[in-house]
Amino acid sequence: MGVKYIALNVCVAVLFALLARWLDKQTVAISERDGVDIGMYAPGAPKPVRAAFVVLVRNSELPGMKQAMRQIEDRFNRKFNYPYIFLNDVPFTDDFVAETTAMTRAKVSYGVIPTEHWSYPAWINQTYAQECRQSMEKQGVFYALSESYRHMCRFNSGFFFRHPLLSDIEYYWRIEPDVEYSCDIDYDPFLFMSRRGIKYGYTIALHEYPETIPTLWTTVKSLIALRPEFVRHTDGMAWLSKDGGDTYNGCHFWSNFEIGSLEFFRSKEYLAYFDYLDQAGGFFYERWGDAPVHSIAAALLLKREEVHWFEDIGYYHNPWTNCPQSPESRLRCHCDPAKSAIHHYWASCTQSWLALPSSGSNSSSSSS
Ligand code: GDP
Ligand code: MN
Repeated sequence: MGVKYIALNVCVAVLFALLARWLDKQTVAISERDGVDIGMYAPGAPKPVRAAFVVLVRNSELPGMKQAMRQIEDRFNRKFNYPYIFLNDVPFTDDFVAETTAMTRAKVSYGVIPTEHWSYPAWINQTYAQECRQSMEKQGVFYALSESYRHMCRFNSGFFFRHPLLSDIEYYWRIEPDVEYSCDIDYDPFLFMSRRGIKYGYTIALHEYPETIPTLWTTVKSLIALRPEFVRHTDGMAWLSKDGGDTYNGCHFWSNFEIGSLEFFRSKEYLAYFDYLDQAGGFFYERWGDAPVHSIAAALLLKREEVHWFEDIGYYHNPWTNCPQSPESRLRCHCDPAKSAIHHYWASCTQSWLALPSSGSNSSSSSS
């Protein structure tokens, strides 16, 4: 009797402790949801922000995709249930659809990219493009010979936001296979951005390999000469260039992680910029990446406050990590703060963005 009584008491105490912990976690999570009706975060419910994960991925990357989704779901989306939009240049296989659908309770959709968004434009000389790939190979440039990599970069630079599956979406969160999310995210980054008017969010900002973009900056400079209004944020120029705009220092937001406003990419300024770059041919004659292309536009068109560093989102894409530094974050993260890219010179473009003057102190306040 005595032993049973003690055992019962211990069980009740343990149950209460577990319940208290669970309630505590729920309260924290809900109170950080900014007063939104949490019913909106139920699977399938209309969300407080029209937003989605947008994923360009190959069928062959299914295992890495599931790994990335598992972490996104566990760390964030099982509480928020934002939909996923998967895009591919060829149809997704039945296995890909079945196995990714099974990873989440949120809505998932699958789209094929229109051919004109993933092929050579008429003005590209394909023989010359091939010669350029071969000469880049001789210089040892990563992905030098790959045609699909170039279509991917051009699609991500100028077309992803035009896909019909994104037509109702205002904000997107880009994910890739094999990335890792190492911290609990207990608030809604889409809502955080839309309420503050933030247009572009990143975790890691790096220097680009100059061999991939030999003429990107001269092309941007000739666009600016034609259309000076493209430089709305004069301080953004100081982030891109240490010599007053003469040369590009390679600073860019690493675009495999992005949370962004589609309104920004659909703006007439961005579209004119993309068209200008596309006409110049560097997506094929060189290997212009979507990261410097997005970043140059963001730096020159957006104010400092419209670009946000998600310091608190633990993120890994080979070979770089973003890991929060505060002691509190160790309780919700599994990354090593000492390994965060922020400690490395190559990733110092984050600090240099943060060091820019705020928009109140420069002439960038005019908009669209
Ligand atoms: P890296 O991060 O620059 O090394 O490039 P990735 O190989 O990770 O490609 C970037 C993103 O585009 C990833 O999400 C890939 O799954 C996707 N991707 C790259 N090439 C292709 C392709 O030919 N077809 C499709 N459907 N997706 C691609
Ligand atoms: Mn990648």
